[in-house]
Amino acid sequence: MRCGGENGYKELKPRDKCGVIGAVGSSPVATDIYYALRIVQHRGQESAGIAVFDGEIKVKKGMGLAHEVFSKEDLQDLGGTAGMGHVRYSTTGSSAVENAQPISCTTEYGGIALAHNGDIVNSDALRKELQKRGWAFMTSSDSEVIVRLLANEISSTGDVIRALREFTKKLVGSYSLVIMIGERVFGMRDPLAVRPLCIGRGNGLRMIASESVVFDTLGMRFLRDVKPGEIVELTKEGFESWRLPHPTHTAHCMFEWLYFARPDSLLDGRLVYDARVKVGEQLAKEHPVKADIVMPVPESGRAQAQGYSRASGLPLVEGLIKNRYIERTFIMPDQSEREIGVLLKLNPVRSAIKGKRVVLVDDSIVRGTTIRKIVQIIREAGAKEIHLRIGCPPIKAPCYLGIDMKTRDQFIANKKTVPEITTYITADTLGYISIQGMIRSLRQAREDLCLGCLTGEYPVKIPGERVRPEKPLEEFAEEPPKPARPRRKTSKKRI
Ligand code: SF4
Repeated sequence: MRCGGENGYKELKPRDKCGVIGAVGSSPVATDIYYALRIVQHRGQESAGIAVFDGEIKVKKGMGLAHEVFSKEDLQDLGGTAGMGHVRYSTTGSSAVENAQPISCTTEYGGIALAHNGDIVNSDALRKELQKRGWAFMTSSDSEVIVRLLANEISSTGDVIRALREFTKKLVGSYSLVIMIGERVFGMRDPLAVRPLCIGRGNGLRMIASESVVFDTLGMRFLRDVKPGEIVELTKEGFESWRLPHPTHTAHCMFEWLYFARPDSLLDGRLVYDARVKVGEQLAKEHPVKADIVMPVPESGRAQAQGYSRASGLPLVEGLIKNRYIERTFIMPDQSEREIGVLLKLNPVRSAIKGKRVVLVDDSIVRGTTIRKIVQIIREAGAKEIHLRIGCPPIKAPCYLGIDMKTRDQFIANKKTVPEITTYITADTLGYISIQGMIRSLRQAREDLCLGCLTGEYPVKIPGERVRPEKPLEEFAEEPPKPARPRRKTSKKRI
């Protein structure tokens, strides 16, 4: 994990792996994809890439934010009415341009390009197996394993849809994919639907995106989430859909609602902003305290603080001002420099804080070093008391499914009790939302959520970790379609 990384206080938070986009239109789509990438830029800031089909697959990618990678001329050069894009933060494979996506390769049936959000848990085993068969890999990314597997499947079956359905049987983990095969553009979501993916249309375009905010911002219509285990093809006329075998429950990442996704996105039927406000309300119920003001840690704690304020009746005060222009401008390899990073990034409004009993609200705690510094800043600004409220239950275990949290030793909640954390952070009191309270706020069933980093029990088999009890996916593959529930059939339909 790169918590405590190099770019300021934001990087002390976990980071998501990627944002993906796919588009088909009646005119060149590269500029629309570029704008869509900028809208999902929060999902990855290390590299950006666009692939289009313009007689052949053309790819342009590089390190940096989308607007740093693409010039107007680049977008004009990327002709073609079918394309895809990707923004990346690495969780598997190093941060290097060769690991930037889309990743492409050629087969006897034409070119393939792929963009991936998620983590393939068995990618090392698959890579070794393919290497034994003489395959050479050009990158350290799990996404190259996926594209090679798919290329192999297409070459052996000669049938794109069959290949898409077959190759996923080998994948264990989370994958929201956009795949371009020749000029055909597909979106796929793993059977547990861990990472988000949705479809929309408008402006002469059919589009797949990681988050629905893309469609809002581009003036398009959000149609729906891609279903668990669904393959969607964007066509000139609309969409076509095939359904893979999938369990009766999902494993949506709870962290998408709590932190990663934009608050103005709809994830699996729930507006992220509403979910975060509810989390804040629940926090106020679970951890009430006598105080004067409620204050968010910007930007991540803002909606939760609103909920806390609403439920407690305490006024909401913006007592910390964020410098929006400091991100990505300096390297801070050690702890003291990281602390300077927090000071550069956040400044207190002393007149709002002095003499006040403050309820400080943030979305989560990983190491605790950043929030400790923030508490110190508020204390030095004259706060009489500081009561920290956290909108995510204690994070204790790694994520193997697409979030940058890889080892147990970095989680403060793994090493210390709540009273010990309170002392370390130098807050007067500390209250985390409970797992049950969080689930209620998200309005999801417990069995439809991944809670792996909270409970250490994962929805897929991970060597050395507990797996939550469930039937293996293969058993669903063998089940005959149930007439009473036709949506569970593996079937093709026009949307
Ligand atoms: S382990 Fe945690 S961060 Fe990872 S997918 Fe599950 S809920 Fe999300």
